[in-house]
Amino acid sequence: MDNAPGAPPSGIVAGMTSTPALRLRPGTPVLSRGGGQVQCGSDPRWSFVLSGLSPSEESWLEEIAERRHVSVEQSAARCGVGVERRDEIMGVLFRAGVLVPVPGVVGAVTAPADGAADATVLGMLRPDGAGLATLAARAERVVGLAGLGRLGTAVALHLATAGVGGLVLHDPLPVQTTDVGLGGLRTADVGQARDAAVRALLAERSPRVAVRVDDGGAGLDPEALDAVVVTEPHAAHPARYQRLLGLGVPHLPVVVREADVVVGPLVRPGRSACVSCVDLARADADREWPALAAQLRETAEPTHEATLAAVAAATAAGQVLAQLDGHRPTAVGACLEISLPAGLPRARPVEPHPRCGCVVLPVRAA
Ligand SMILES: [Zn+2]
Repeated sequence: MDNAPGAPPSGIVAGMTSTPALRLRPGTPVLSRGGGQVQCGSDPRWSFVLSGLSPSEESWLEEIAERRHVSVEQSAARCGVGVERRDEIMGVLFRAGVLVPVPGVVGAVTAPADGAADATVLGMLRPDGAGLATLAARAERVVGLAGLGRLGTAVALHLATAGVGGLVLHDPLPVQTTDVGLGGLRTADVGQARDAAVRALLAERSPRVAVRVDDGGAGLDPEALDAVVVTEPHAAHPARYQRLLGLGVPHLPVVVREADVVVGPLVRPGRSACVSCVDLARADADREWPALAAQLRETAEPTHEATLAAVAAATAAGQVLAQLDGHRPTAVGACLEISLPAGLPRARPVEPHPRCGCVVLPVRAA
C-alpha cells in the first residue's frame, strides 16, 4: 500500500480477519484506475491505491461505496469474492483507515439537519470515522461571545451552525446600521441591544441551540464556559482577560484594526502565551506602546468591512471548534493576521513573555 496515488503498490498484503461491523469510511470516493487498480480517496493526506485486484474484487469495492445499506461481507459474497481474499483485502482497507467501525448510538446533535451536512467531513478527521460523535460532543459545549457587531455575530451564527450546543452572549450596546449584513443582523434590529438581537436571530436559525444573554453588567460570567471569543477594537486589553485566565477558560481575542483583523492568540491558560504576553512583547518593541494602547481604547471603533468580517469570523470559529474538538488550533501560540486586500490569514508566532508569569517557563541551562 502507498499513500501516494501516483505510486501504486505491488500487491495486496495479508490482512486481518474480518470484523462484522465495518463500513467504508463515509465520503470516501472509490475510483477505478484500470488494470486491477482501485484508488480510495482523493485527498493526498490519506488517498491510496490498491492493486492486483480481479474484476469481481473491483466490483465489490465499487459496490460498498454505493450500496451502504448492504454489509461489506454480504457485498463480497454477492460479487463472488471468496472469504479468504475478502478478509485479506478488508485487512488492508482497515489498516489504511478506509474501513471503519459502524458507529454506535451517540448523544443529541444540535447542528442543522441532524448534522447531515457536517458529520461526513468531521468523520474524516477521526480514526473511527464517527463524525456524528464530534457533533454530539459539540452539542455539550458552551461558548461565550463578547462583542457582537458584524464580526462577532457572524462567529455566533457559525458556531451554532457547526453544532455548538450553548452560546452565552454579551454586548448590550445598540445595533448600529453598520452591523447589518453578512446574513446576520437586519435593518429591523437597529437600535435593539446587540446580544438580545443575536439571541432572537439564533432562536430563528438554530432553534436547538441554547442561547442566553449574559447581563451581568461587567462582562461575560466565565463560569461553566468551554471557550470565550472576545471581539474588540484596536488592541486586545489585557485586563479584560484576567478573569478568564485565572479561571482557566480558553479564550480567543479577535481584534479589529484599520484594515486588518488579528485573530489570536488562542489562550490555553497556563499552557500558552496569553494576551498580556503579547502586550508585554509589544511594549518591549515600542516603549510608547502602553501610552498608545491607552489612546486607542479611547478611539472610535472601526467598522467591520464585509470581507474582513467574513474571513475573520470563519477563522475565529474554526479555531474555537478545533479547540472544542480536541485538536491543537493554529492560533495557540500565534496571532492570525488577516489584512486587506489579500484577506488571507497569516500566522505570526507569539511566545510566553518572561515577565508575564502566566506560563511556567523552562529554566534555561547556563
Ligand atoms: Zn502571559
